[in-house]
Amino acid sequence: MYYGFDIGGTKIEFAAFDHQLKCCAKKRVPTPTQDYLVLLDTISSIVVEHDTKFGVKGFVGLGIPGMENPIDGRVLTVNIPAASNRTLRKDLEERLQRRVQIENDANCFAISEAWDEEFRELPSVLGLILGTGFGGGLVYNGSIFRGANHLAGEFGHLRLSIDAWFTLGENPPLFDCGCGKSGCLDNYLSGRGFEALYAHYFKRKKTAQEIIADFDAGEEHAIEHVERFIEVMAISFANIFTANDPHLVVLGGGLSNFDYLYQELPQRIESYLIDVAHCPKIVKAKYGDSGGVRGAAFLNIQEGTAQPL
Ligand SMILES: [Zn+2]
Repeated sequence: MYYGFDIGGTKIEFAAFDHQLKCCAKKRVPTPTQDYLVLLDTISSIVVEHDTKFGVKGFVGLGIPGMENPIDGRVLTVNIPAASNRTLRKDLEERLQRRVQIENDANCFAISEAWDEEFRELPSVLGLILGTGFGGGLVYNGSIFRGANHLAGEFGHLRLSIDAWFTLGENPPLFDCGCGKSGCLDNYLSGRGFEALYAHYFKRKKTAQEIIADFDAGEEHAIEHVERFIEVMAISFANIFTANDPHLVVLGGGLSNFDYLYQELPQRIESYLIDVAHCPKIVKAKYGDSGGVRGAAFLNIQEGTAQPL
């Protein structure tokens, strides 16, 4: 069995998958916010409960909103204070007497989609999340490509390119990023960026849903905004695709439900690629909110079969 945990700021989602990758059990509990030992107890007791239920020692994978320091194994996360700066993997491995995998939640999203039945034969799948922030993950031959510093796929901290900057017009906004730099794509291509750009140009605050509803109704400002936004997205995606050349691109997060993106992006991206390149197929994520827990479970998928207790 493959056990996946999606550890969020408010809740922990759990699901167990068999060797056919079929979901056999689900559970949701509140995230212990401050007490680290309670967090360890919560995760461990769910694992033990399901080991007993299925009569196996299941593989454990965790998705977290953050990352593990590759040098000392400490978890870097702001949304789960109880786990912040703790050696979560090592402590769980000691308790559970098995290997535990921990991965950034964007990477879990990417691996969940890459292991979809339709896509699992593809050599490379790029997942991009257009959520509150903008991030992503790269899956090569079924496994996440992490990089030396676990930074591979952190496309949100690529800076706007020069042609994207010109596309933003005469008075472009230079947004500061949480990483300490300015001009990171995270603040432009995310749902947050979509709203901030609208506010910059039209001096009015609207939610992404309101702007998209205006766009669908043919409202002038919303059309101008969406056209400019998609152009900046196309330029940025073309740069990402040039560097990674993925076989498939899967979009997740709230803005990925905006169908106009799939209509417009391919042709616009193609115009920013070099001549020999073609825009890869771009699809909407299939697994929505359950992608995190699926991907966490599948972190162990190439580790072999679950051992009997
Ligand atoms: Zn940044």
